[in-house]
Amino acid sequence: MTTNIDVEGPWKGFPAAQIKTAFAKHMKASEYPEEFEGVAMGIKPHPERNVTIIKDEIEVSAKKRDGHNAPCNICLTRNKWRQEGILVADSEGWLFLVGSDCAKKHFGDAVFNKEHRRYRADEEEKTGGEFLLKRIDHIPDLVAYAQILQRMASETSNPHSSLHKARKAVSVFRKAVDKDDGWLSVEGERSVILPDGRETTEGTFEKVARIRGRSVLKGKNVAPDKASEAVEILERFGSTEDERLDVIAKAEEQRKLAELATAYRHAVKALHEVREIVQDFRVFFGPENFKGLEAWAEHRKCPLDIIVTSSGNERTLEVDGMRRRCVINVKPLMEELPDKPACMD
Ligand SMILES: [Zn+2]
Repeated sequence: MTTNIDVEGPWKGFPAAQIKTAFAKHMKASEYPEEFEGVAMGIKPHPERNVTIIKDEIEVSAKKRDGHNAPCNICLTRNKWRQEGILVADSEGWLFLVGSDCAKKHFGDAVFNKEHRRYRADEEEKTGGEFLLKRIDHIPDLVAYAQILQRMASETSNPHSSLHKARKAVSVFRKAVDKDDGWLSVEGERSVILPDGRETTEGTFEKVARIRGRSVLKGKNVAPDKASEAVEILERFGSTEDERLDVIAKAEEQRKLAELATAYRHAVKALHEVREIVQDFRVFFGPENFKGLEAWAEHRKCPLDIIVTSSGNERTLEVDGMRRRCVINVKPLMEELPDKPACMD
C-alpha cells in the first residue's frame, strides 16, 4: 500500500491532544516513531498546508534501532536524528517526523517558529495547570506557615537596623564570617629562638570567638519583603477549596496557568530563604554568639574599641565614635520557629 497524502489522512479531524496521547502510547511500545499510524514515511509534507506540532523533543535510541537514528520527512534522510525530533500533523490528517532546521526551511522560518512558540506555550500552560492541581491541597498549610514567618521576618528589621548603626563592628564581623570562617581574632606575638640561638618575636593571631549568622551582616535585610511577597502570592489562591479551584480555572481561561505556577514556586522558594534568614538572626543574636562577642570585645588586644553586653533578651553594642550605643531586644526573635509544612520538603 502506498501512502497518498493528497487524500484525507487517518487523523483528519482529530484534536492534537488525542493524536499526542496515541503517539505517546505507541512510543511506550516501540523504538520507531516513524511506524506510528499516519506518519507519511518517505514523503515530504506540502509546504503550503497548515501544520500543527503534535510533540517536540522526541528522542530515540540508535542502540535500540540497530544503530540507526530516526528519519526526517523533509530532507528524506533515513538516519537523521536521535533527539529533538518533532511530530507534526498537516491539515489533512497526515503526520510527519521532522527536524526543526528542515521544518524552518520547508515551511518558512516565521511560520514554523510561530507554531513552535504556540506549542511550547500550550505545553507550559498544561504542565502549569497539572503542577497547581497537584498542590492545591498544600496551600492552606503554606499560607498559615507564611503568615507566621512573615511576622517573624518583620521582627528582624529593628535588630538589623540597630546593629548596622555600629558600622565599624559590622565590617569586622563580616570579614570574620566571609574570610575567617567566623573567627574573631586578636593579634599577639610570641618569641622564637632563631637557629643561631638569638631570640626574636613574631606576630600571631589568636582566635577568640567564632560567630555565625551571615545574613544579619548583609547591608540589606530582604527577609521582610520576601515574606510579604510569599504571603501575597499564596493569598491570591483564596481561602477555601472552591476559591482555589476558581482561581485556577480563571487562570486557565486567561492562559495564565504557567505564570501562576511560577509564582507559586517563587513563593515556596522565598519561604525557604526567609526561614534561613530568620534562623541566622536567631543564631547571631543568640546567647552563645554574644558570649563569644563579649569575650572578644573584652580582650585587652581587641582591635576595636567596643563594648558588648548580653543579658536576658537584651543585647547592646557600642563602638567608639557612635553617637549612641545600640540596644536590641531579641525576645520576638527568639520565639519558636514554626515547623516547615511537609509539602515544602
Ligand atoms: Zn531533514
